[in-house]
Amino acid sequence: MKVYKFGGASVRTADGVRNLASIAAAESDRLFIIVSAMGKTTNALERLLDDFYEGRTGEALLKLQQVVDYHNAIIADLWPDGYMPERVGRFYMELEEVIATSNPAMREYEVWYDRIVSFGELLSTSIVSDYLATAGVANTWVDMRECFVTNARHKDANVDLERSAERLGTLIHATDARVYVGQGFIGATEDGAPTTIGREGSDYSAAAVGYILDAESVTIWKDVKGILNGDPKLFKDVSHIPEMNYLDAIELAYSGAQIIHPKTIKPLQNRNIPLYVRCFLDPSLPGSVIRAGVKKNREIPILIVKPAQVLLTIRANDLSFILEERFASIFALLNEYMVKVNLIQSSAVNLDLCIDRTRHLDELVARLSEEGYFTKYNTDMELLTIRNYTPQQTASFGSSPEVYLMQRTRRTLQVVRKKEE
Ligand code: ASP
Ligand code: MG
Repeated sequence: MKVYKFGGASVRTADGVRNLASIAAAESDRLFIIVSAMGKTTNALERLLDDFYEGRTGEALLKLQQVVDYHNAIIADLWPDGYMPERVGRFYMELEEVIATSNPAMREYEVWYDRIVSFGELLSTSIVSDYLATAGVANTWVDMRECFVTNARHKDANVDLERSAERLGTLIHATDARVYVGQGFIGATEDGAPTTIGREGSDYSAAAVGYILDAESVTIWKDVKGILNGDPKLFKDVSHIPEMNYLDAIELAYSGAQIIHPKTIKPLQNRNIPLYVRCFLDPSLPGSVIRAGVKKNREIPILIVKPAQVLLTIRANDLSFILEERFASIFALLNEYMVKVNLIQSSAVNLDLCIDRTRHLDELVARLSEEGYFTKYNTDMELLTIRNYTPQQTASFGSSPEVYLMQRTRRTLQVVRKKEE
């Protein structure tokens, strides 16, 4: 069994779906295909959710109509005879009913997030699965809410690999398909409440399926020719990295490289499954591979920008030593508000944290204040990570007024800086 993952950009249009079908048709092994929501559907559903959650039902329904129109245009292009995938119509109705008839105050934001935003992948896979069948690739549509068991940490759930293995294993044994199509990004709690596993999480879904089924390989199909040493939209003269080991890859992903989700590497490393990154625009290109046995990258500089960061400085009002006495309690609070910490620096009484932007920042600061901390923060920051940096880079960042914090190890330089306008 091989696992293929197609991201939102690859199925943005009807041509993208046709391309996916031709890639799947060219493969003779058994395939488990994981698909993200089409194009920018997840963003659109997040905005719809905000309207719904703040009681603007009419606005939310208008946004739903846009999502429906977008998918219907793709469907009309794929099936000029007017065919409508049966599941798609059902999901439209379900989502409309949720929006029109539920009281948002009944549940927390994060629970609604999972209930509503998960429709993006349900719709995309329904279209892809039916189109594959039309194109002669018989397949089984899989509802990942019935396969991936997660905890109830809504909007950022963790997949329980053991429990999920039982369910997915049963499904694979019960059916004898060559091709399966399942949603990235989504699962459900033990009681069946839908969950999502974090933005861009479909890569992880693919890796988890690969792990559970002990796949021969996992391939992520992207719009780039493989792994590059920097985002071509941000840096010029980027070069292609044909192969990389798991350790370099996990560091790269964790620092914010958009190419793969950071959680993706561990399950693959644990079962020694190679991860291919290939270009859906030109499947004849070799792409890149992440696997064991590749020499550590000590030469090629790698530049990664993590946007949407906040630099938070916390000090105990009673001047306690922050690391010795307060570290655990501060981190318990951060965990409670699901804050992602990307970099830590401390002095006697100050703790500086570079964190992902969070909608809970005000609440967090209020709680910190209740518990005796003085907090300052800067928003609009970004975290730049350079692996294999040069002394010139250290010097130039070291003297830049835009840099608020800088750290380096022997191989890695990290700076938290004011985002360029
Ligand atoms: N559709 C989700 C997102 O846009 C998950 C993914 O694409 O990986 O974040
Ligand atoms: Mg994506």
